[in-house]
Amino acid sequence: MPSENFAMQAKPLDHQDLSQHTPMMQQYLRIKAEHPEILLFYRMGDFYELFYDDAKRAAQLLDISLTARGKSGGDPIPMAGVPYHAVEGYLAKLVKLGQSVAICEQIGDPATSKGPVERQVTRIVTPGTITDEALLDDRRDNVLAAVFEGKDVSGFGYATLDISSGRFMLCELPTQEALLAELQRSQPAELLYPEAMACAHIIESRKGIRRRPVWEFDLETAVRALNQQFGTQHLEGFGVQSAKLGLRAAGCIMQYVKDTQRSALPHIRAIGLETQSDTVQLDAATRRNLELTQNLAGGLDNTLASVLDKTSTAMGSRLLKRWIHRPLTDINRLTRRQDAIEALLDADLEELSHYLKNVGDMERVLGRLALRSARPRDFARLRQAFGQLPAINGFLRSLDCTAVNSLSGDISEFPEYLTLLEQAVVDNPPVLIRDGGVIAPGFNAELDELRALSKGATDYLEKLEIRERELTGIPTLKVGFNKVHGYFIEVSRGYADQVPVEYVRRQTLKNNERYIIPELKEYEDKVLTSQGRALALEKQLYEALFDEMLPRLGELQLCAAALAELDVLANLAERANTLDYYRPSFESSAGIRYDHGRHPVVEQVLDEPFIANPLAMNAKRRMLIITGPNMGGKSTYMRQTALIVLMAYMGSFVPAQHAQIGPIDRIFTRIGASDDLASGRSTFMVEMTETAIILNNATANSLVLMDEIGRGTSTYDGLSLAWACAGYLAQKISAFTLFATHYFELTQLAESLPQLGNVHLDAVEFEEGISFMHAVQEGAADKSYGLQVAQLAGVPKPVIQAARDKLQQLESGEKQIRTVTKTAPVQMDFIEQDDPLTKALSAINPDELSPREALDKLYELKRLSGQKGA
Ligand code: ADP
Repeated sequence: MPSENFAMQAKPLDHQDLSQHTPMMQQYLRIKAEHPEILLFYRMGDFYELFYDDAKRAAQLLDISLTARGKSGGDPIPMAGVPYHAVEGYLAKLVKLGQSVAICEQIGDPATSKGPVERQVTRIVTPGTITDEALLDDRRDNVLAAVFEGKDVSGFGYATLDISSGRFMLCELPTQEALLAELQRSQPAELLYPEAMACAHIIESRKGIRRRPVWEFDLETAVRALNQQFGTQHLEGFGVQSAKLGLRAAGCIMQYVKDTQRSALPHIRAIGLETQSDTVQLDAATRRNLELTQNLAGGLDNTLASVLDKTSTAMGSRLLKRWIHRPLTDINRLTRRQDAIEALLDADLEELSHYLKNVGDMERVLGRLALRSARPRDFARLRQAFGQLPAINGFLRSLDCTAVNSLSGDISEFPEYLTLLEQAVVDNPPVLIRDGGVIAPGFNAELDELRALSKGATDYLEKLEIRERELTGIPTLKVGFNKVHGYFIEVSRGYADQVPVEYVRRQTLKNNERYIIPELKEYEDKVLTSQGRALALEKQLYEALFDEMLPRLGELQLCAAALAELDVLANLAERANTLDYYRPSFESSAGIRYDHGRHPVVEQVLDEPFIANPLAMNAKRRMLIITGPNMGGKSTYMRQTALIVLMAYMGSFVPAQHAQIGPIDRIFTRIGASDDLASGRSTFMVEMTETAIILNNATANSLVLMDEIGRGTSTYDGLSLAWACAGYLAQKISAFTLFATHYFELTQLAESLPQLGNVHLDAVEFEEGISFMHAVQEGAADKSYGLQVAQLAGVPKPVIQAARDKLQQLESGEKQIRTVTKTAPVQMDFIEQDDPLTKALSAINPDELSPREALDKLYELKRLSGQKGA
């Protein structure tokens, strides 16, 4: 993907001597020079044309044909074009690919202009700043982000703006991992970064990255620009003043949206600071592995969001996904969410959902209102939304719950706007204001008159005819019209001498004379211009709707936000009802426990019943070694625990009974093997990187899932590593850890480490195969059933038999391994800081090591653990 960079110069170089070019190409090249970095759609009649490199790029990206247009400056000009009426589709495709487009329209009148008609770039479409409905995915946030890497201070500033809601946030991130996690969470459609950023390589493969000049990240400029935007003297009220790196990123965003939007941004009225301690941290791998909003294959099905999201509005759907990705640590806020869900459980959720569906995507409509780009149908939608508000408030007030009632407090009703829109806008307005027909009849007397005039639908001419007949006494007098002379009064020859002096003769025919009078000319002017005037007036009245509503934009936004939240809460209540979820309780003491826990996604896709399982971990029992056959349900059990914890910290009810959840600061997962080919790392390297992140960052309040660590290397390496990691997590970190492994040797750790327990998933073997029970039992599994599973999978019988024989052979030599593993745990002690093993472990930071070096470290580690055990 070619990235678009401000520094990337277009090639007016060969075209520098403009005088060689046709006047039109001169105009094109001048405009293009102002937008060197992005595609320029140059309007020519019914097409938008692209030339030179733009044409080649667009032909490739859009799969349209590349042609040539005449010659200019001696060479044929490469050209590609798209029809104007289909432009939205092409724009949508380009922004999905991370591209930006400058739209250059004809603004002059082709009939009157000498030389090429005047043209101007009227809008710039970039992936992170679009608000057009046609270009956006309505159930996903579309975010513009900027990152700034600290120089004197380490860490990163990161800011995001959702231009349709005006949501503007910044944060500061201590490490690259934290930045990657944030990028994974916010999934910006466009990411601005300073030229010469040292760690630019970590974002290089993203779509929609834009290099910006360093001065756009200047702190003073940023503070000034933000104060100017918010109309404030200083930024203390937002609590962001000390987040200097974050402010630099936010400043760049402000600059960029001003450049691209070319209009006021009244809905961006505040900026907020997100701190790491506000949320349960999830690193990038964990967000992926838990398949929160995207599955591992990149799709949307079989994700937590796909199960939880039955929201009635698109804005609710987007908010729900933000909640999923941002579990909170503030128990008060979580309790309020839970209270609201509980109150809504017994309410008529179908009725509420009906109202909310009629509210629609008020958030994005308001964004377009603020940018004055709202379409006629947006006003119709607002009207419909306003119509629901009294009923919604009535509904909420009838519930006896403070949290719900306070939501209702934010939902102002806007009866005067409802009336205004009912009177001003027709029932089913057309898509665009361009051709009129939006303002309703009866709203404006002048408009009604102009419309009547333009349709010639008045009895004025009839009245005039009758009046003149009476005045002149000429019975054959009549009013007529032709294209050349317009309106006229026709009198037959015989009466010509009775015609009043003010009649001016225009035409003499064989039997008739034709006259005009000033009044008739005036009428004619009115008719002929009325169509244009009606349209102009209609546009004026349309603009006045914006003026009328924008002063209360803040209240409108607050109302939309409350409605989105209500939608999410009602949705979670509905889900709790339908899917049998229970309210978890938050405990101040460390631990996680639940009964009858289920995996929210797996239980939905299974044909058979899901086997619910309990979990109990507390300050004294912090790690569970989970054994059992492949396919036994180990991963499912671990993930369900993480999801139950995460859902609890969203404020949702959970698929488990009696869930009691203590403080959790972070969730880590090391699950499943996936090659990160894009970054050139092998499966094992990915596994070790994720492991290193966990070992370096987990705390006693973290929830850690370790699935089959050590698989990617030889048995001895793998076993030693798994053993060392388990010991380190249990003793040194004391994190709440679920450790699934196929190394039975690890189950013996429990003998020496009291905070560690063994559980297993059972299987029953019978003659022709094996049946998985999926039930979690105390204690270690007694065997691995690997061959039975292979048989189940259809591995040919002779292979299974050969494997059995080999297994027997190996098992007789197994003693050798046991001597290492059996004795080692007893003496494992990670507490001493100088312990060479501790050092070796913390040295596994693959970011600093080549794969070869990392492997050497691992071998050393194995050697050390062997020595300790010996
Ligand atoms: P493991 O990690 O032990 O190899 P998984 O957790 O991947 O096993 O589970 C394998 C399959 O077993 C799952 O895809 C699911 O279909 C089924 N399964 C797992 N846990 C349960 C359960 N508690 N109840 C019913 N089916 C389950």
